[in-house]
Amino acid sequence: MPDDMKNKGDSGTETSFGFARVSESARQGLVNEVFSKVASRYDLMNDLMSGGLHRLWKADLVTALAPPKSDVPFALIDVAGGTGDVATRFLEAAGKGSTATICDISKEMMDEGKRRAKGRERLTFVQGNAESLPFEDRRFDAYTIAFGIRNVTHIDTALAEAYRVLKPGSRVLCLEFSNLEMPLLDRIYDAYSFNAIPALGRLVAGDADSYRYLVESIRRFPDQERFAEMIRDAGFERVQYRNLTGGIAAIHSGWRL
Ligand code: SAM
Repeated sequence: MPDDMKNKGDSGTETSFGFARVSESARQGLVNEVFSKVASRYDLMNDLMSGGLHRLWKADLVTALAPPKSDVPFALIDVAGGTGDVATRFLEAAGKGSTATICDISKEMMDEGKRRAKGRERLTFVQGNAESLPFEDRRFDAYTIAFGIRNVTHIDTALAEAYRVLKPGSRVLCLEFSNLEMPLLDRIYDAYSFNAIPALGRLVAGDADSYRYLVESIRRFPDQERFAEMIRDAGFERVQYRNLTGGIAAIHSGWRL
């Protein structure tokens, strides 16, 4: 974890929860509360907050993954997969040999996903923590995580887990909010994020605080270069990233060789 995300307080190690400081042991519980509260409105809010952009970014992620079109077995794990956007897009683009496993810590988010994915074969939901994935070593052919890793308390541990469950010769891909490339846009983006998004959250999901956390957690997340370094530190090679919409989001990728 980056140093500015943690420091030692009197009551043990502290970390950030949005802009607040909380104990490391309490953080995941607070994150879980956020997602259990917003689950039923999560997809609608994504469309409203991003003006539909999240759909394009997720489509970009799946294109970057280049799903195989053949019947050859190919197993994707989509960690923090929530309501299943990335996994379903992947299965729509992939050949019949492909399967997807969504692993998320929130039962409520996955329940929404299961409702949406009713009747969809080749999609499995498993409840689990990105920091200790309930899967054996070298099980998967690709690992994706979209807008999930900034919610994890120990990013380095989650990346180590990604490495562990991937077969050699396969890839990790992370889609996450990132740092704007254009400084002038920063102010407009800040004004929108800190005012409009919590207000939308209050209006649509009856919950401004959860959306304030989501915005703040974006600002606390390491920038493109730092995050690329963390992926390298986990053992991945040929790490690269591509900015989306001027750096509002970015896709990082790396190979386990
Ligand atoms: N990937 C989905 C998408 O792009 O729409 C959902 C993203 S949502 C912003 C973040 C998800 O991360 C939530 O479903 C939440 O439950 C999950 N999450 C948070 N901490 C997690 C952890 N430690 N392990 C696994 N999932 C986690």
